[in-house]
Amino acid sequence: MEKAFDNYEVWFVTGAQLLYGGDAVVAVDAHSNEMVKGLNDSGRLPVKVVYKGTVNSSREVTAAFKAANNDDRCVGVITWMHTFSPAKMWIHGLQELRKPLLHFHTQFNKEIPWDTMDMDFMNLNQSAHGDREFGHIVTRMRKNRKVVVGHWQDEKAQAQIAAWMRVAAAWADAQDMLIVRFGDQMNNVAVTDGDKVSAEQVLGYHVDYCPVNNLMEYYTAVEDKDVKALVATYFQEYDHAPELEKEGTEAYTKVWNSAKAEIALRRLLKDKGAKAFTTNFDDLGLFDQIPGLASQRLMAEGYGFGAEGDWKTAALYRTMWFMSQGMPKGCSFLEDYTLNFDGERSTILQAHMLEVCPLIAEQKPKLEVHRLSIGIDSETARLVFTSKQGEGVAATIVDLGNRFRLIVNKVDCIKSKPLPKLPVASALWIPRPNLEVGAAAWILAGGTHHTSFSYDLTVEYLEDYAEMAGIEMVVIDENTTISEFKKELRMNEVYYMLNKALL
Ligand code: MN
Repeated sequence: MEKAFDNYEVWFVTGAQLLYGGDAVVAVDAHSNEMVKGLNDSGRLPVKVVYKGTVNSSREVTAAFKAANNDDRCVGVITWMHTFSPAKMWIHGLQELRKPLLHFHTQFNKEIPWDTMDMDFMNLNQSAHGDREFGHIVTRMRKNRKVVVGHWQDEKAQAQIAAWMRVAAAWADAQDMLIVRFGDQMNNVAVTDGDKVSAEQVLGYHVDYCPVNNLMEYYTAVEDKDVKALVATYFQEYDHAPELEKEGTEAYTKVWNSAKAEIALRRLLKDKGAKAFTTNFDDLGLFDQIPGLASQRLMAEGYGFGAEGDWKTAALYRTMWFMSQGMPKGCSFLEDYTLNFDGERSTILQAHMLEVCPLIAEQKPKLEVHRLSIGIDSETARLVFTSKQGEGVAATIVDLGNRFRLIVNKVDCIKSKPLPKLPVASALWIPRPNLEVGAAAWILAGGTHHTSFSYDLTVEYLEDYAEMAGIEMVVIDENTTISEFKKELRMNEVYYMLNKALL
């Protein structure tokens, strides 16, 4: 985990003013240094905090924020007002700031020193009202930020900062994201399509088409020795029937060609510097089967994936994978496949033709070869497993024509019954609060049948992401009722129209 975020920094900028004299400036600086050191030494923050000094004037604020914008390592800025910091001095700087902002409402001392507190102490330790003055101007300027309240040594406050840091790093990653599409959307599908120009403006990532012929050039150029090595890795890493290792059989050839496809895909993505890709089962060039096994393994490595040309889900998967690096339970591209009605225990079987990420597997995945009739009617290699159990979030971003909406549903994965005749990877979940309300709300919000799913992330991470992107977010959880949810959707419709007019 440490390695994943090693190239990033979060800057810590303390607000004050010169009213209280030189001694106060020295004290503020010393406190800030101690706090930043404490945050870094806590071991709870995935990104290093760098103290960038105390700002006492508009000029200093502007200089600090311009520097943050121009430093590629800096993925976000934390501000904290030690003394009262008149907020007009923050206006010009905030107008410049383009990095995610976290306002930390904390205080150097944890408790009031009841017996010794005098007026000097009061004047120096004014976060209680200094942070409100700062908050006012950020709100007046309609700038999105995360506000975290708590003592800087408090585990809960640090956990909120840690979540925001992971999201800020993933946000930086998305600003430099190329998504390669092999083929277009699946014909006629609405929800996986959208405005790729707006996506680049609002969400940062770039979506390019790549002729499948280019991929075929890579495919035909793969050398046998590389394929052989990867096939050996498969047999080592995954359970499989012993006869699968028998060279010359159709099944072995399918495993072989799958490995060849994986090598070709990875090389092309590396050469292009791409972080995500989409496939379309109607546009597979010389492949003899859908490259599902390759997609499964590339997802586990962190490549974003969306089936049937779904570039928005490919991007969101990459972002959620990036945020959750080093976390234990995993994430995957998934699709709502089949319902099981059973009252309050009604579930949705999550699967895809093949492409489910093995990071969410409960047991060692099994490498199998079976016939698949969609796209190319052929025996097809795949990893088969069922998912872990427990709470998670399913998320999607849809294009509503005038804006993007992030939809998040809290779900509970439960143990699936055996599916002996369905040899694909799957998960089984109950959407919160239950299928009846959860699925109705999802449908009313215009949600996709594809999702990006994570066990490790919570709604907090996705909320931080939506704030950074400045997009709408709706949450479906244990508190959702359909009548309130409908009101929220209608209010948001007005808000997002007005918001554009205001700014
Ligand atoms: Mn699909």
